[in-house]
Amino acid sequence: RAKARGRDRSALFDEEMRAEAMRLLDLEADLRRAIQREAFEPHFQPIVRLTDGAVVGHEALLRWKHELHGWLPPSEFLRVCEDSGLIEQVDWLLYRRVVAWMAANPGGYVSINVSPRHFHAEDFAERLLRIADEAGVDPHRLRIEITEGALLDDAPRAARILGTLRAQGVLAQLDDFGTGFSALSYLHRFPIQALKIDQSFIAGLAGESQAESLALVRAILALAGTLGIDTIGEGVETQQQRQLLCELGCAYGQGYLFGRPQPIKAAAGTPAPLLLPA
Ligand code: C2E
Ligand code: MG
Ligand code: MG
Ligand code: MG
Repeated sequence: RAKARGRDRSALFDEEMRAEAMRLLDLEADLRRAIQREAFEPHFQPIVRLTDGAVVGHEALLRWKHELHGWLPPSEFLRVCEDSGLIEQVDWLLYRRVVAWMAANPGGYVSINVSPRHFHAEDFAERLLRIADEAGVDPHRLRIEITEGALLDDAPRAARILGTLRAQGVLAQLDDFGTGFSALSYLHRFPIQALKIDQSFIAGLAGESQAESLALVRAILALAGTLGIDTIGEGVETQQQRQLLCELGCAYGQGYLFGRPQPIKAAAGTPAPLLLPA
């Protein structure tokens, strides 16, 4: 009997695997149609100076405007986009929307998220500079966000790409900092403007692992200070977190406390002032 139950269980497992595989195939087909319809838009979330709340820029965050389900966040589809290689098309569609919005909304900078695979594509920097130019956007207002992993994949090459972009005014921010390799010794080899401290550490400032999070945030801020790199706290949701980050010497923040990601129209109602961080 135990054997029979075992067989049932594995049959059930196969069935679940099959259903999951079908779901992913459907999702991929759905994504291809969405690309045809260009059904992707950026939502914009403000990045502020912590001392006075002044908006210095926005992060552009990918959303899929789904015919049935409304706005879908990356957690619903980014994995499939990356595994299927569709992310490249989706991101370039998005970046075009972003520079169009920038052209219509003068103000601070806008940062875009870049997947490791197309950051390393041969013509990434040229392509990005071209679409900014075509939209009439000053490249000094554009920033890219990449993760530590993308840098370390091929460090000399990454340094070259970042150098090319920086020479034209496009600065780089390291996303989710603290969650990757965090081999801090490599940082000075890359032209990085800002570290974005991962939201898990900001959330941790009040939780069970308070001491660890605090120590980590302190270490990141000290390192950034030494290297002359800006710091942005991600996922700031409470006044206490903002206050603490301020006291620790973190200059910038982003999170629901200051504003949620907003669709194009709503974000256009709150243009960033002309305020570029030092
Ligand atoms: P990320 O770049 O670290 O973006 C920050 C995420 O934190 C966003 O999730 C944002 O909505 C969320 N967030 C902001 N403030 C708060 C807060 O106070 N509390 C909490 N709990 N969350 C907050 P989102 O928009 O779902 O994006 C998730 C991830 O998807 C991004 O993480 C980024 O890695 C990726 N992504 C977003 N847009 C793009 C894109 O255009 N291209 C690519 N390749 N990846 C993207
Ligand atoms: Mg980001
Ligand atoms: Mg992040
Ligand atoms: Mg993230």
